[in-house]
Order: sequence, then C-alpha cells, then structure tokens
Amino acid sequence: MCGVGYVRALDHYLPKEKYPEFSVLALNLVPTCTRCNENKLSLVGGAGGRFFHAYYEEVPETPSILLADIEVAYGSAIVSFKVNDELPEVIYKNAAYHFERLRLSETYVGPAVQELVERVPFFESWYEGGGSEKVARKAHRQAEHLRNEFGPQFWKAALYDAVEKNHDFCDGGFSLLASRNC
Ligand SMILES: [Zn+2]
Repeated sequence: MCGVGYVRALDHYLPKEKYPEFSVLALNLVPTCTRCNENKLSLVGGAGGRFFHAYYEEVPETPSILLADIEVAYGSAIVSFKVNDELPEVIYKNAAYHFERLRLSETYVGPAVQELVERVPFFESWYEGGGSEKVARKAHRQAEHLRNEFGPQFWKAALYDAVEKNHDFCDGGFSLLASRNC
C-alpha cells in the first residue's frame, strides 16, 4: 500500500468487523507493512474516495500519481510529496484518499531523504564530470530504471523525477543534504 515498509501483516481490505463473510477470502487479504495496516484502521472509503486495492486496481502507467518536490532553501533541502492534482478525477479522488489516510507523505519523507543523502557521493562525481546537466540526466535514468524494476508508479521514481526537474538541487544543492541530519 505504500511501497516502502516491509510486509508484516495481512490487511482485511474490507474490514472483518463490517464484512465477516469476507474475513478469510484470499483476495480480501492484502499484505501490508505494520504502519499502513495501523493507519488504514477499519476504513474502506466511499464515494469521496477509497483505498487502492493491490489485486483489483487498474493503475495507469502515466501520468504519475505521486509527485515529489525538493526545495533548496535556507541552507537545507526539504523533500515533500503530494498527489498529482492533474490526474483524472476518479483516480485523483482515490489516490488522495489513499495518500492522506495512510499518511504516506510522512512515510516517504524519511526514506526519501536517506536515499538522497546516500546518493550524495554519486551526485558529486556526476557534477564534477558534467555539471548540473549530468546530474539531471542520471536522475532521469534512475527514475526510468526504478519504473522498469518496481512499476510505473513506484514512489522512489517520483523522487528522482523531482531531482531531475530541480535545477538548484542538481547544480550543487545536493551538498546541503550531506551536512544536515535530523
Ligand atoms: Zn506500507
């Protein structure tokens, strides 16, 4: 449900309290991490949006459901995530519900910053070898690689899209990540 956490639980997509008849139906049992399982509670959603279902959902390859943003300011780099508001309405409704109820913004920020911090030596060598353009090009390739390996909507690909698009970050802003830990 998030693509980050280790699978440690089976979530009842339709909660067993409300739908006991589906409580042992295999297709109603979705592998999740503990965090998503806890955040989902016994919610399902409704007309205003619902959780994506790991087995039934037809998720489009494009556009990206998730968008990341990296802000380089005040001597630091700040990473954030949001649902793409240019999605078709039905997908947006469900994506926003899924994203907000599971608190995925909080889920992604820590691993995202860690991912970028670990990449700093690579950013540095790419920058030395070809400036911001090379950093952006490599980020683009990394996003493509991640989509091929983990699916078109994998959260980390959105992070590298954001790297590619952020000129300040590619132009040396990445070095702000190395000196800051919290
Ligand atoms: Zn999860």
